[in-house]
Amino acid sequence: MKTVRAIAELRDALDPRARIGLVPTMGAFHDGHLSLFRAARAECDLVVVSLFVNPAQFGANEDLSCYPRDLQRDSELARSAGVDILFMPEEDEMYPQGFATWVEVTDTGAEGEARPDHFRGVATVCLKLFNIVRPQAAYFGQKDAQQAAVLRRMLRDLNLEVELRVLPTVRDDDGLALSSRNAYLSEDERRTALALPRALETGRAAHAKGADPIQAVRAALNGLEPDYVELVELDGTTVLAAAARVGSARLIDNVVLETPCQASAWHGRTKTKER
Ligand code: AMP
Repeated sequence: MKTVRAIAELRDALDPRARIGLVPTMGAFHDGHLSLFRAARAECDLVVVSLFVNPAQFGANEDLSCYPRDLQRDSELARSAGVDILFMPEEDEMYPQGFATWVEVTDTGAEGEARPDHFRGVATVCLKLFNIVRPQAAYFGQKDAQQAAVLRRMLRDLNLEVELRVLPTVRDDDGLALSSRNAYLSEDERRTALALPRALETGRAAHAKGADPIQAVRAALNGLEPDYVELVELDGTTVLAAAARVGSARLIDNVVLETPCQASAWHGRTKTKER
C-alpha cells in the first residue's frame, strides 16, 4: 500500500486504464469502513481510500478539534483490507486558499437542518476528491443515508459519471451502528445509546404492521431525546432515520423500511417538527 499526501503525487500513482474505486473517509477506522474497502477491493482494480478530517463539514461548535485520529492504526487496517493507495492530505493541500467556491446543496433533510452547512462541506470535498481521483465507483455507508442521498443528487445534478455504491450499515453485536464517534461514549452512555437502534427497529416493525413508524420510534426511545426522526428516500427505498445526543456524542442511525412509506410526501421526506 502506498501512502500519499500530495495531490500531484496521487495523480501520478493512478492508472487511468484501471477501474478505480474511491472510499472517502475521516479515519478512525472500524469494520464499517473496512466493509467499504473490501467491497471496493472486490469490484475495482485500484482502491483509493482518502483519509481527511474535512474542516468544511464541521460546524463551529462541533467536534473537529477532538475528532479521533490514529494514523498508524488506520494505515495498518487499510493495508490489511487490501487498499492500494491511502491518500492523507493536510488541510493546506486540500484548501490552499481557503474557500471561495462551494457545492451548495438544498433539500438536505432534518440532518441538514440540524447541521447547517454540513452537507455543503461534504459535497464540496467529495466533488474535489472525485475530480482528483476520477474514480469509476465511490463507496459510502448506508449509515449516513442522508449523505448518500445528497451525493446521489449531486452526481445527477452535476452530470458526474461516478457510480455511487451504498453499502449496508455494520453494527456491533449489541446492535449499535459502528461509528468513529462511539469512542466518545462511556460504558453507561453506550448502554443508553442502544435505545437508538432498538427504537428504529421498533419503528420498522410498527410500519410493517401499518402503524406510523415515526411515532413508534419516538415512543420507544426510552427517554432519549432525538434531534429528529424522519423518513429519507434513498435509491427507491424509504429509510427511517434518527439522530440523538448521548453525552458528548451525537449519534445518527437508520433502518430500511420494507415497503415505501405512505407518509413520505416530499421526495420521500417527512419530519415531525415537535422536538
Ligand atoms: P466517516 O469516516 O465517518 O466519514 O465514514 C466514511 C464512510 O464510512 C461513510 O461513507 C460512512 O457512511 C461509512 N460508514 C460509517 N460508519 C459505517 C457503518 N457502521 N457501516 C457502514 N458504513 C459506515
